[in-house]
Amino acid sequence: ETIAFHQLIDQEIISSIYRKRKPFSHKGVFGHALIMAGSYGKNGAAVLSAKAALRIGAGLLTVHTPKCGYTVLQSTVPEAMLETDVEEQHLSTLPTDMSRYTAIGIGPGIGLHEQTAELLMNLLHTAHQPVVLDADALNLLSIKKDLTKHLHEECILTPHPKEFERLFGKTNNDFERKELALQKAEELNCVIVLKGHHTFIASPNGDAWFNNTGNAGMATAGSGDILTGILTGLLAQGYNAEEAAILGVYIHGAAGDLAAQQLSQEAMMAGDINQYIGSVFLQL
Ligand code: AMP
Ligand code: MG
Repeated sequence: ETIAFHQLIDQEIISSIYRKRKPFSHKGVFGHALIMAGSYGKNGAAVLSAKAALRIGAGLLTVHTPKCGYTVLQSTVPEAMLETDVEEQHLSTLPTDMSRYTAIGIGPGIGLHEQTAELLMNLLHTAHQPVVLDADALNLLSIKKDLTKHLHEECILTPHPKEFERLFGKTNNDFERKELALQKAEELNCVIVLKGHHTFIASPNGDAWFNNTGNAGMATAGSGDILTGILTGLLAQGYNAEEAAILGVYIHGAAGDLAAQQLSQEAMMAGDINQYIGSVFLQL
């Protein structure tokens, strides 16, 4: 029976984590993020994640998408470089030189193709850098559960309750789900971000946080894809997994709150969250 210490993420915690840029910094200082996302009909997920990784301050960004994502990404996110897959409609093969990336985010819109599962397997077998796993990367992980043994302490899983249940099984209530998240974070030695109204962060060392920024306007298609980009971009800048999770979840929610204030919870779209990341930074 664990008695966990659950801390509310407040301004004080955020200012202790957030590091201002030094005047003489160049883009190499802020890392090279790799976002692996998209498939036929879901390349928008890659666009949302990519923009978030850039808005959160990654120095360089490469997006790995299937061939059909080429025009979509190059025209909507000109700041990002692109590594297209050999496959037209789904991801199948890792980019050739993985060593150049500081942090990797995988999952938004990738689908459940068998070859995409192989790519995920290859990634987890070989990647030494921090990895964020979201969406279909988590669903693939639930299908191939033995892959979870390759996770490490710089990995972050970002399941919503349904993805969490597929991964780790049913729980009877919120309390049990949080306890299970802590147990799994320790067991798999990675950070688990259990998304929801009050997103819960479980660290492998048994620490836990909950977040109270964010609102029901974020219950809209693509919100989670933006969190993936934010977390990957923070890891690329050298924040560790725990810091990135705390800072990222807070900024994501706070940007969503500003979007809702300006646009209403109903009208706001996930892409609008990206537009307000800057305003959140100005308040830090
Ligand atoms: P996903 O389900 O993957 O698109 O992720 C949704 C994102 O929006 C997560 O980061 C949630 O924490 C956030 N979100 C969804 N609904 C709410 C809500 N009612 N209150 C606060 N945050 C929310
Ligand atoms: Mg999602």
